[in-house]
Amino acid sequence: MTDINQLLKKYFGYDSFRPGQETIIHHILQGKDALVLMPTGGGKSVCYQIPALALNGTAIVISPLLSLMKDQVDTLRENGILAYALNSMQGEDENKKIRQLCIEGKVKLLYISPEKLLAEMDWLLRQMTISLFAIDEAHCISQWGHDFRQEYTRLAQIKEKYPNTPIVALTATADKLTREDIISQLALNNPETFISSFDRPNLSLRVVKGLNKKQKLQAIVDFIDRHPRQSGIIYCMSRQKTEDIARELEEYGIHTGVYHAGLSPEEREFAQNRFLNDEIQVMCATVAFGMGIDKSNVRWVIHYNMPKSMESYYQEIGRAGRDGMNSDTLLFYSLGDLIMLSKFANESGQRELNLEKLTRMQQYAEADICRRRVLLSYFGEEMANDCGNCDVCKNPPERFDATILVQKALSAVARTNQEVGMNMLIDILRGSHKAEIAERGYDKIKTFGAGVAVSFKDWQAYMLQMLQIGFIEIAYNDGNTLKITSLGWKVLKGETVAVLAMLKPEDFEKKKRTTKGKRLSSSTRVLSDEEQLFESLRKLRMQFATMEDVPAYAIFTDKALSEMVDTKPTSLISFSNISGVSEVKLRKYGEEFVDLIRKEIGKKREKGDTYLLTLECIRKGMTVEEIAAFRNMQPTTVYSHIAQLIQIDLFNDWQSFVNQSEVERVKYELEKRSGSTELKPIYEGLNGDVEYGKIRLALAIIAKEMA
Ligand code: ADP
Ligand code: ZN
Repeated sequence: MTDINQLLKKYFGYDSFRPGQETIIHHILQGKDALVLMPTGGGKSVCYQIPALALNGTAIVISPLLSLMKDQVDTLRENGILAYALNSMQGEDENKKIRQLCIEGKVKLLYISPEKLLAEMDWLLRQMTISLFAIDEAHCISQWGHDFRQEYTRLAQIKEKYPNTPIVALTATADKLTREDIISQLALNNPETFISSFDRPNLSLRVVKGLNKKQKLQAIVDFIDRHPRQSGIIYCMSRQKTEDIARELEEYGIHTGVYHAGLSPEEREFAQNRFLNDEIQVMCATVAFGMGIDKSNVRWVIHYNMPKSMESYYQEIGRAGRDGMNSDTLLFYSLGDLIMLSKFANESGQRELNLEKLTRMQQYAEADICRRRVLLSYFGEEMANDCGNCDVCKNPPERFDATILVQKALSAVARTNQEVGMNMLIDILRGSHKAEIAERGYDKIKTFGAGVAVSFKDWQAYMLQMLQIGFIEIAYNDGNTLKITSLGWKVLKGETVAVLAMLKPEDFEKKKRTTKGKRLSSSTRVLSDEEQLFESLRKLRMQFATMEDVPAYAIFTDKALSEMVDTKPTSLISFSNISGVSEVKLRKYGEEFVDLIRKEIGKKREKGDTYLLTLECIRKGMTVEEIAAFRNMQPTTVYSHIAQLIQIDLFNDWQSFVNQSEVERVKYELEKRSGSTELKPIYEGLNGDVEYGKIRLALAIIAKEMA
């Protein structure tokens, strides 16, 4: 059997397996069943693709979505692996051809939908040698999961018909119920369950509370400005919102697409493809977007609204950074969302469950300990240390004794008979002159205006904390009015103190605002050499992607490009060491990428090199004329090289090129012209006695002396 490490390098260009992969692969190679739980981007595919390459025959991969299949097949084919997909979208001629190849044993991986699998089971499959069955997105088989698909339930037939062929079921959904369901429904035979850590350390986590619509938009624009040319997704609760935001971002010149279930399938596909192919930078979408995409270079995810559960949140942020590069996530959290989501949960079929899920989500958003700890503990994982890559870790909250502040708020709740919502309560605390407040006589209560020193937004943030700690609660079934809890009464009566986290200004509040007009200049700012190289590599990658009609990341991932920028391989050998450069890719693209890298770094080196070459000639005792002839350049150029060398302190023995009296004469002319270094007047002032090159050299000497 071929060494699996060799296969990994040859076909995928990777040097080592990720945690878990190797064990799983060995298990499958022994012909055993497995259930693999790995987070999105964890590297599930390799777990069955390597066995598929190592074993005889064809691996059948069952996948629920056509777009996913296409993506996988494209990526495998780019690496020279014989992968095909059978589906109803491509013509019957094409399918016929593929069936033939399967029968001839010329296919290593066959991707197929569950419906199609059942249809092909009795004819095609019988004539093939099958190495293994891989069932992707296996949670679709379970009613407990979130993507239940009827067709999946019939996959039980596989084990009946192929009792001796290994089945590997893969999913990113970890909960226990779903897990057990998958095993029993697929009738897996004494399977081993492999669970990887669900941590995605390359994703930064951040929550921002209580911004209004305008502030959110500004925050988004600033965020995108800090991620120039990087793809990202903005998740919104409503279809309308996705369209509104897309329109507004377009006004800032940010190319944005829209994706939601209200669009026709064609419109959705169009938007999705433009995003996959990096033609639009941003996708504004509802939760309908994402399941079918494998785009590895999504660099950021913003939640415009809070998701309804930690599962959704985790899955959605997980679409960023699949290539392992650092990626940023940002969640906006507001009271309005909380109220809306509570309403949905209350009206849903599983009220208790959904409210509980929402509460856990809220706790995450309100957390003042490492957010990754909260996130992972939700999925049953413990962390030894704080992550250092979330907003709480980066900027830990300070606490203060907020008893008086909290008492003011609670007292206002009590004095309004617990009949007002949060916004009105804040208005009362801030002594607002809104008509409604006077009409209801709230301007007469003792706490009216007692909190005027605190801004409306800060009050909101404090109230959210009070809600989270449990001093107050919101009666969602009573006009969202505020009620004091028993803990709250204790604070009010002075029986216990209240400690809150200090509020800190957000970065983008401190930052200078980007305006619609100004953005242009920031997006055309000068790139550093490294950024420039990355851009050039991206462009080259895009050319190949267009030529091959595959998404750019199927050629090389962002991570591979960034490794090229870091290590600047200028030979095919060093290029082949880049992670992600498989044998086929090395052959197909190596030459051009290496050429490009050479050219890009050569540009600067050439300049430095040319002076050094002149210096070498000087050291050999050559005259200016000899050097000029040897290097095929004008003597003036050689003089200017010497001038440069003097200026950068690489050479000071200038007497053999220009004599002292010539320098003095130039100096005299220079003074006469009050320091103007224009060459022609000096030349003429010296009656043409001193040639241009020497004047230039003399000027360099004089400048050096004066410095
Ligand atoms: P999943 O299906 O679990 O979401 P993928 O199989 O798509 O994840 O893998 C995510 C990314 O990680 C892909 O770009 C894949 O090529 C890459 N990857 C997988 N295994 C390795 C490895 N051992 N070394 C480096 N990159 C890997
Ligand atoms: Zn943290």
